[in-house]
This record gives sequence, C-alpha cells and structure tokens, in this order.
Amino acid sequence: MSARKLVDDVLKGRFTYKTLPIAAAIPNPPTSLENKTGMWRVQEPVIDQSKCIKCLLCWTYCPDASIKRRDDDGVEVDYDYCKGCGICMTVCPVKAISMREV
Ligand code: SF4
Ligand code: SF4
Repeated sequence: MSARKLVDDVLKGRFTYKTLPIAAAIPNPPTSLENKTGMWRVQEPVIDQSKCIKCLLCWTYCPDASIKRRDDDGVEVDYDYCKGCGICMTVCPVKAISMREV
C-alpha cells in the first residue's frame, strides 16, 4: 500500500486498527536479563570490603542496578551487567571502591 493511499484511507475512515493485518507473534520475548552488558566495559569497580560502611549509596546510584545488596547490607558488584561507568566509585564516601582496567 502506498503512503498516499494509506493517508487517504485513514482520512476517509477506511483504515482503522480493525483493518490492520495480523502480524507475527513472539511467543518468548527476550528480557534485559539475557543481555549481559558487562562485556561492554573497559574498567570495572572493585570494592574494598574492609573500608565499606554499608551506606548503600553505590547501590542507590548505580544506573544499571549492578550493585547487589546482601542480607547484611554489604554490597557486591554484578559483573554480568556492570558497564564500568564509575559512578559507584564517585559516590562512595569512604573511597572503598576503585576502578581497575579489564
Ligand atoms: S561502575 Fe557503574 S554500572 Fe558498574 S557497578 Fe558502578 S555504578 Fe554500576
Ligand atoms: S558507597 Fe562505599 S561505603 Fe557505601 S555501601 Fe557502597 S562501597 Fe560501601
């Protein structure tokens, strides 16, 4: 169908959602969990657990939800999804996080 005919049909009420052809169905849509974005990074955070005061600022600010909170409020990095942006290092008030090259 040409764009001109489509516009004409819409304006004249001949083209509605009911006239749309049935499209393909995706029975098992992927989720972002399957996209392990950690492979993108060129550096990664390392947490010095002996300095961590469990303030959870890194957990709060990580844009990729890649800081995992443990039951004791300690934190770990989920390297499957961490993109290495360094925000966690920047917000840590006690400099418990450093970045290393990968
Ligand atoms: S480096 Fe960025 S993506 Fe990785 S854990 Fe820190 S804030 Fe999150
Ligand atoms: S920001 Fe620093 S001190 Fe706070 S929980 Fe994260 S690593 Fe620990």
